[in-house]
Amino acid sequence: MVLDKPGQPLRFRDVEKPRPSSGQLLVRIATCAVCRTDLHVVDGELPDPKLPLIPGHQIVGYVEEIGEEVESRFKVGDRVGIPWLGWTDGECAYCRSHRENLCDRARFTGYTIDGGYAEFTVADARFCFHLPDRYNDVEVAPLLCAGLIGYRSYRKTGDARRLGIYGFGNAAHLIAQIALHEGRDLFVFTRPGDMETQQNSKTLGAKWAGGSDEMPPEKLDAAIVFASVGPLVPAALHALAKGGIVVCGGIHMSDIPSFPYVDLWEERVITSVANLTRRDGEEFFDIAPRVPVKTKTETFPLEQANTALERFRAGELKGTAVLVMNAS
Ligand SMILES: [Zn+2]
Ligand SMILES: [Zn+2]
Repeated sequence: MVLDKPGQPLRFRDVEKPRPSSGQLLVRIATCAVCRTDLHVVDGELPDPKLPLIPGHQIVGYVEEIGEEVESRFKVGDRVGIPWLGWTDGECAYCRSHRENLCDRARFTGYTIDGGYAEFTVADARFCFHLPDRYNDVEVAPLLCAGLIGYRSYRKTGDARRLGIYGFGNAAHLIAQIALHEGRDLFVFTRPGDMETQQNSKTLGAKWAGGSDEMPPEKLDAAIVFASVGPLVPAALHALAKGGIVVCGGIHMSDIPSFPYVDLWEERVITSVANLTRRDGEEFFDIAPRVPVKTKTETFPLEQANTALERFRAGELKGTAVLVMNAS
């Protein structure tokens, strides 16, 4: 499925099977989960996508062919996961200081290089992951972004005991399971009046759940804002104890309104998380099956990618949308 121009629906098109060049794997795609970032790309909210573009960056597939100079980590038939971070130069100041997520020349799957709404793709082997065996191809797909970048956001909260989460979507649902597993007290903020999500988060183990317009019963040591709603940032900041941190976990957010300096005073911090490093992925895929982190999914055949995006945009999904190739 191809995006010709942001703002338009994806079009179904026969695409030639790509050839793996040096360092690449040719992967037959089994599933690809749909991320909110895909919506931002399709809607034109992120600048300069490759066009035409095959979106999708939570790809699960099987190695069909191996290009020259691929290290021996993979062999034909192996299951691989292909994430958002698709390529880095390895030589800029960020890459050389273990911050490849900030690489000056980074390329991103399903944004600046073709992604997984397709039957085949090629991927730089160095950025592919082996996936834990306990998950099937559908279950594991949402872990590749919602899980992985959510995990990077979570790690930024250090050893915060009282953790707030604003916006309880896919990433929050996965990260909450790790936070609870690690003994954190969880405070969940939803759209005001969304009692169903509040109840779901309490069933999962949240200590408190309420509307984003409410203050939690205790001050928070950290908060992660997963919703792309700027006014949640000062709201989260206002709920922090001294020395607390607000982590913005999304790639796109509406503008943040002004707030009194006293809310930032006493060494409170606001930060954001950009992309992922390969190390984040390795850590996450180590911990996820041990919790075990469980995903909720709704599957769609590849040809119904537009329907999946529409239902995601409308908030009608009960789990992460996962496109299944060759569903027939
Ligand atoms: Zn770099
Ligand atoms: Zn994503």
